Amino acid sequence: MQTVSRRSWAEPFKIKVVEPLKMTTREHRERVLTEAGFNTFLLRSEDVYIDLLTDSGTNAMSDNQWAGMMLGDEAYAGSRNFYNLEEKVRQYYGYKHLVPTHQGRGAENLISRILIKPGDFIPGNMYFTTTRLHQELAGGTFVDVIIDEAHDPASPHPFKGNVNLQKLADLVQRVGAAKVPYVSVAATVNMAGGQPIALENLRQVRAFCARQGIRVILDATRALENAYFIKEREPGYADRTLAEILKEMCACTDGCTMSGKKDLLVNIGGFLAVNDDAVFEEARNLVVVYEGLHTYGGLAGRDLEAMARGIEEAVQYDHMRARIGQIYYVGERLQALGIPIVQPIGGHAIFVDAKRFLPHLRQLEFPAQTLAAELYLESGIRAMERGIVSAGRSKETGDHYYPKLELVRLTFPRRVYTQAHCDVTVESIQAVHEVRGAIKGLKMIYEPKYLRFFQARFEHLP
Ligand SMILES: *Cc1c(COP(=O)(O)O)cnc(C)c1O
Repeated sequence: MQTVSRRSWAEPFKIKVVEPLKMTTREHRERVLTEAGFNTFLLRSEDVYIDLLTDSGTNAMSDNQWAGMMLGDEAYAGSRNFYNLEEKVRQYYGYKHLVPTHQGRGAENLISRILIKPGDFIPGNMYFTTTRLHQELAGGTFVDVIIDEAHDPASPHPFKGNVNLQKLADLVQRVGAAKVPYVSVAATVNMAGGQPIALENLRQVRAFCARQGIRVILDATRALENAYFIKEREPGYADRTLAEILKEMCACTDGCTMSGKKDLLVNIGGFLAVNDDAVFEEARNLVVVYEGLHTYGGLAGRDLEAMARGIEEAVQYDHMRARIGQIYYVGERLQALGIPIVQPIGGHAIFVDAKRFLPHLRQLEFPAQTLAAELYLESGIRAMERGIVSAGRSKETGDHYYPKLELVRLTFPRRVYTQAHCDVTVESIQAVHEVRGAIKGLKMIYEPKYLRFFQARFEHLP
């Protein structure tokens, strides 16, 4: 990545409140991990030292956000905090209408129900679990139109989140524009490893869709992380602010769904924002059924206020530089140690390549699950598996899906951990790497029917 200045990415904040962490012994970790069936999702948070399970809702709020919590107007209707949030969304995202929801999937439910008819097709740059599920529940079929490079963990492409325009045009040609209610574009594609989409590409998608009469709906959950990558990597944007880039991205779309639990530095919250008056009218009716009145959408007034203030903080360049700088710091240190990770480093996580880390394990000995377990045993760091356990089984054949990738995801909450925590993370991965040849795989002893990675249990192979 291009370096803008010689200065470190050092955090643009200091610490006012601390939350003590429990330091545990290896014996303790062995006991609780065995009780948890070698599944990091089944550990108690209090037994975790550094929690890199997810960056969703795990953010640290600022003193200004906490101050805003005290200004919560908990009126059932017309809370002042709603109007504050509406103003910030209009100012920074640029959409005309706002409908708050309890989190991102609430907004996905609304837009899917409003725009998708049974039999429709929804092209997208890879999928996100809840986004795709709501599209399917509304009767739609998701079609992946991301560029091929996104599926290759070794490709250094700077914008692996780009849409392949040819794939999109082929789909529209095949099924007809009338059966494509919108293109679902994610900014920084989570499932591709936190990889951004270029503004040039988004503009081309917009131009194509405008000709076909197809809407573009943005998953803006991580759009500000995407804006940072555009500023760093896309020619012509180095001197633009993140706020200007965000506005330009949103201007290529008709609306967005948003999980505030990521970019917006809160622990809960989300929204749907659209320009079309008729779509807004319908969303405002539906939100009452699923979330709550259109001026609170399942959130307390104080949550709306924290999110409104979070927008102002998230658009700050220094904030995002430290956020992504921290992840690059860990990634680059791991690379220097010869630890195999997915390229390029993404916006929210490091993905360790467990197949190359533990080449002596067969895929059915669960290399990524094993590596996540070993990392916890070593130091109390909690990561998660993204491999054969997460992939599940085929409904048709009953056999496991055998994904190409066996990854361990280390996801960094925003503003939570220090550089010393990052160093401990690197050192403990290094310690596991040094003894990798002696690591034995796992056997699955309990397999739930749905989303098995959350609750599956394992034991050590002899
Ligand atoms: C987390 C996430 C969602 C869903 O949001 P929730 O707040 O968890 O419901 C949707 N899209 C992306 C890209 C996400 O990261």
